[in-house]
Amino acid sequence: ATLFAAVDLAPRDPILGLNEQFNADPNPNKVNLGVGVYTDENGKLPLLACVAEAERQIQAAPKPRGYLPIDGIAAYDRAVQELVFGADAAVLAEGRVATVQGLGGTGGLKIGADFLRRLNPAAAVLISDPSWENHRALFTQAGFTVGAYPYYDAARRGIDVAGMLAALEGAAPGTVVVLHACCHNPTGYDLSPADWERVIATVKARGLVPFLDMAYQGFGEGIAEDGAVIGRFLAADVDFLVSTSFSKSFSLYGERVGALSIVCRSKDEATRVLSQLKIVIRTNYSNPPTHGAQVVATVLTTPALRRMWEEELAGMRNRIRQMRLLLVEKLKAAGVSRDMGFITEQKGMFSYSGLGQAQMQRLRDEFGVYGVDSGRICIAALNTRNIDAVARAIAAVS
Ligand code: PLP
Repeated sequence: ATLFAAVDLAPRDPILGLNEQFNADPNPNKVNLGVGVYTDENGKLPLLACVAEAERQIQAAPKPRGYLPIDGIAAYDRAVQELVFGADAAVLAEGRVATVQGLGGTGGLKIGADFLRRLNPAAAVLISDPSWENHRALFTQAGFTVGAYPYYDAARRGIDVAGMLAALEGAAPGTVVVLHACCHNPTGYDLSPADWERVIATVKARGLVPFLDMAYQGFGEGIAEDGAVIGRFLAADVDFLVSTSFSKSFSLYGERVGALSIVCRSKDEATRVLSQLKIVIRTNYSNPPTHGAQVVATVLTTPALRRMWEEELAGMRNRIRQMRLLLVEKLKAAGVSRDMGFITEQKGMFSYSGLGQAQMQRLRDEFGVYGVDSGRICIAALNTRNIDAVARAIAAVS
């Protein structure tokens, strides 16, 4: 037999597969609510003006492209820390946070997963049920056994907080708990401040390892509001990890800009942790790419560009909110008698619509409306041109 004769064909990524199906659909009125990408009122992926301006400034004084340090651009890592933890956070003054540039939020998660696995090979990982598709696969590939804690409560259209807390209470010390910092993907339901406090108290009492995935900071309520959860963990004085993604908040998906930050007990500990993160990076891809992080660092540290970004991010956030309100209105007008108001309680790009697999299939086959079989639809892909058709289609299958 030849070397690769026994290689199995891996199943294709369900969401990217949906994309291929969408692209092949000749229906001129088709709408793609499958992928997690923000498009503007014209259905286009935006190039933020702050990004274009930062690129113009960078281009005006082109630099040679040497290797970056293994942990990335120092000014970028610092800007990430100030964004995530707050510019005057005590942990930063104390030098207790190890931050590395990563390849998107996924890269940050993977560096963290590899580091944790080396630290404690016996630990298990818990993710939310349901969670972002890639969480389970990523932590499994890193060598962990991955379980899930209850999260979505379909009957109550919200979070099964009691179930979640019970699962955390039953977890062995050292278990890594992956938590969505804001804008939960796929459900859109975030813990309330009071529920966060209970989760943090449980994590602390049980000696669990919280790993916050922050892929949507600024897409929910605001940059500071969405980041408030970080302050809660700091106040509780627990060690934790945070992955950051700028894919959505800067519309820089393809540039792969993200980070991993680890909050440690002391500066000395952070130095040792950083040295280990560098080994993970060095043996995977050696060092990160230059462009995207330079753009983000320029925007975050240049006051005028920073203001521009905050306005543009607010624009995206508010447009998503408007689409939530409008969708509820249009569904009612289209004859859906059930109260769909829950859609406006959800945060971020996505909505768990409550539709089942058969209904999602009909949406695709009969109306060219593409969402995920779980019932997840991307609200950030709605606009005033496609929302009527989407509402009518959902009404028809409801
Ligand atoms: N984490 C969650 C919850 C996400 O939804 C996503 C993107 O969809 C990511 C991480 C990955 O982000 P990135 O594209 O920056 O790797």
